[in-house]
Amino acid sequence: MGKGRSGSLSLEGFPFEESWEEKRKRAERIVEILMETYPRERLLIGDPYRTLVHCIISQRMRDEVTYRVWRELFERYGDMRRIAETPVDEMREFLRKRGVGLWKTKGEWIVKASKMILERYGGKVPDDISELMKLPGIGRKCANIVLAYGFGRQAIPVDTHVNRISKRLGLAPPRVQPERVEEYLMELIPRDKWIYVNHAMVDHGKTICRPISPRCDSCPLRELCPYAKGLVTDGDIKGNSKNP
Ligand code: SF4
Repeated sequence: MGKGRSGSLSLEGFPFEESWEEKRKRAERIVEILMETYPRERLLIGDPYRTLVHCIISQRMRDEVTYRVWRELFERYGDMRRIAETPVDEMREFLRKRGVGLWKTKGEWIVKASKMILERYGGKVPDDISELMKLPGIGRKCANIVLAYGFGRQAIPVDTHVNRISKRLGLAPPRVQPERVEEYLMELIPRDKWIYVNHAMVDHGKTICRPISPRCDSCPLRELCPYAKGLVTDGDIKGNSKNP
């Protein structure tokens, strides 16, 4: 079994045989089809701070509610400085009244992250993943979202859809953690396509490759998908995660 270009990834965790070369070709074709199926005119929010606040609100929330609350928050508070000066309890109340889950935690994160950006980074959201991850409420997925949709960098945020679909498609071994999924995707997908992966897989995950009962019969990736051929199962994916 070969190692990936980076040397740290292995083919051993996959439940079917395929070389890196074959996997790379298949991954490229998959991304091409996803880009044709879910075209985007505009990918960027283009404002790292607003992207960051959006990401905090969005955790475990439906898109429509997130978008509405996010828009209202900026209509009411305007900018980073005003948000940083807002009492945490007021921000919590703002979120609670609008049906945001985890409103206590998110209210605190939004105010504290804004303060920290002002005090530690001179009011500019850092464009570095490890600095971003020092901000309250910002894990690896949100940091990548800020890099991709705020700064326009090539990054692959791995959320629940990207995690599940990558594993069904055999682009990552079924039992690895999301951080490892990100590494496999970076290994297999050309860098200039990274930014499309999250968007396209999220759309695909909501419409066709749903968590339960994926609609493989009407999926444009069927011919390229080991799950559709019975080589990967949801049972494989649901097992304990580990880092091979
Ligand atoms: S064929 Fe099925 S499992 Fe594979 S990507 Fe399509 S919907 Fe998902």
